[in-house]
Amino acid sequence: MTETMPRVELVPPDIAAYRNGNVGVDWVWRWTAAAPGPHVAVVAAVHGNELCGPIVVDRLHRLGIRPARGTLTLALANAAAYLSFDAQRPTASRFLDEDMNRVWDPAVLDGPRRTAERVRARALRPLLAEADALLDLHSMLHEGDPLILSGPTARGAALARAIGLPAWVVADAGHAAGLRLIDMPPFGDPDAAQTAILVECGQHWRRATAAVALEATIRFLAHFGIVDSAVFAAHRPAPGPQAAGGFVRVTDVVTVRTDRFRFAPDAHGMSVVPRAGTVIAWDGDDAVRTPYDDCVLVMPSRRARAGQTAVRLGRREP
Ligand SMILES: [Zn+2]
Repeated sequence: MTETMPRVELVPPDIAAYRNGNVGVDWVWRWTAAAPGPHVAVVAAVHGNELCGPIVVDRLHRLGIRPARGTLTLALANAAAYLSFDAQRPTASRFLDEDMNRVWDPAVLDGPRRTAERVRARALRPLLAEADALLDLHSMLHEGDPLILSGPTARGAALARAIGLPAWVVADAGHAAGLRLIDMPPFGDPDAAQTAILVECGQHWRRATAAVALEATIRFLAHFGIVDSAVFAAHRPAPGPQAAGGFVRVTDVVTVRTDRFRFAPDAHGMSVVPRAGTVIAWDGDDAVRTPYDDCVLVMPSRRARAGQTAVRLGRREP
């Protein structure tokens, strides 16, 4: 299936000046204020082809942002993949050896296998696991409403609702293929206090995506009293009109079974399908139908192959 990819509107920032870090791990910077407060972390470029996160981290560095209280950690996670970004082949730099957002299970990190992403994740883990709250900035290949993935915990959902942008909050249990950073202990533990959320800020290369990423980051930092949002007054592009949004809990995973899976033309990310039984896709000769009224299509992937997730289905909750 061919699909026209959006033009690359965003310019990947030069991150060379941030390589050395100040905590002994490349690309990781940390500052602690005199006043006590929570430790928050902003993480970018877990996927190397997603430009909005590095744009935000570059902005924070350039503005010389320092915490008014507590501790702020800024991390460019898969900087090596990001540095391989090529606007002529913009999907190729997603990772070097494997998806870095599936390696955060302690059994994987403590295991023997070496990949570029595992080596890097092992270096980052102790630094990131110290954060009281973590914001992981991502973007999406396909067009669709931006959303916050709050993971499975109630405190993740509460933080996502408090941030309020993007307006869609999706509670989900992650992926069978491996733990995401936001699922890593202690963040994914039901009884822990530390919280991590992932923001899908929009399409990878759209200008609006960077504005959403910056606004979500400003709100996240202000929420914890780390940085007053007024600091950003002159550097806060309006993120544009936002979708109405709401809270969605993932109930079903649609897995591709044949090599002839295709979505209905109007199926896009965060579509709300009013009637149960509506055909949203075909897999070979079989129709894929919504199981209940007001079913939300979460991040449909038009590139999924047999055995991969085509879309997740969610139910709206108050
Ligand atoms: Zn991503």
